[in-house]
Amino acid sequence: MKNISRKGAKAQRKAAKKNLELCVFFAPLRLCGRTFALTAVVLICVGIASPQSKPTRAHTSMTPEAKALLEQAIAVVCTQAKLDPISSIAIDEMQSRPSLPVQSPEARAGAERAQRLLPIAKELVINSLQQLATDYGFQKSAKFNLRLRQAIERVNSVKRVRPDMDSRDNASVYLSRPHVITFGTIFLAGLRSDEGMISVLAHELMHIADGDNDNLRALVAAVGNKVSDLTGLDIHGQRGEEVTCDLIGAMAVRAYIVSTPDYESIRRRLARSIQHNCVELDEGDEDHLSPRNTIRALLALNPGLVRELINDRF
Ligand SMILES: [Zn+2]
Repeated sequence: MKNISRKGAKAQRKAAKKNLELCVFFAPLRLCGRTFALTAVVLICVGIASPQSKPTRAHTSMTPEAKALLEQAIAVVCTQAKLDPISSIAIDEMQSRPSLPVQSPEARAGAERAQRLLPIAKELVINSLQQLATDYGFQKSAKFNLRLRQAIERVNSVKRVRPDMDSRDNASVYLSRPHVITFGTIFLAGLRSDEGMISVLAHELMHIADGDNDNLRALVAAVGNKVSDLTGLDIHGQRGEEVTCDLIGAMAVRAYIVSTPDYESIRRRLARSIQHNCVELDEGDEDHLSPRNTIRALLALNPGLVRELINDRF
């Protein structure tokens, strides 16, 4: 499963289309892409113009000061990855690990954590999605609001996490079983905190919210355009969706931390929402930014999070 080639990904896409299954993956990694790419959406629905109104696009790049703060915040996140005893394992390290049996204590603990947090993650995703729609000016669009309600129904219909050894460091949802998130055991074991797990559950739930017809594509495109302008990186199409899913993940974790204060530092807990991207081997692909550029994109979109990571307070 390591280093899947583009050819491999294409083969999977065809298989998915043939089986009429939608596989949605959320792991914030490039691996997400290889599974998520199965999204029949990409193959079937490309080219369908969005009937939704689009907010005016503002071309705004970051100031040198903002860029410096962003790099400082990345250093905080990746330092916490080394200091925090329950930090999320970096995705390149997860990829290098041997498969883990479903009954292993680490996989069982991860599966129990994921199942326990699923209802909370659903609620957080719905709130974050509504917030994001408002932030990007979609709240007055009747068409978008209808799609948002349908998206929320899809999120609410997810009931179960199924651990799967063969999925390794991936997670996926199939149209034939839209109520179940299949979660690789390496991934389950690698997300060792509630914050890390909520981040990935939220990423997956956002793919489900978008659904098999890219119903939230106007919002996803708006996020992609904004982050492309801010960073100068090319974040459109599937890359835009992946970043939007990660953004919802970070928003969900922040809201979770606000609602569950404890003795741990805010900085440490916030870092868990994105630190699986603190890789040594920093590679992207056509559907995904590299992991470290993913952190960069998320923080560019979220200057409040940059400040909170640096200042260690809300
Ligand atoms: Zn994804």
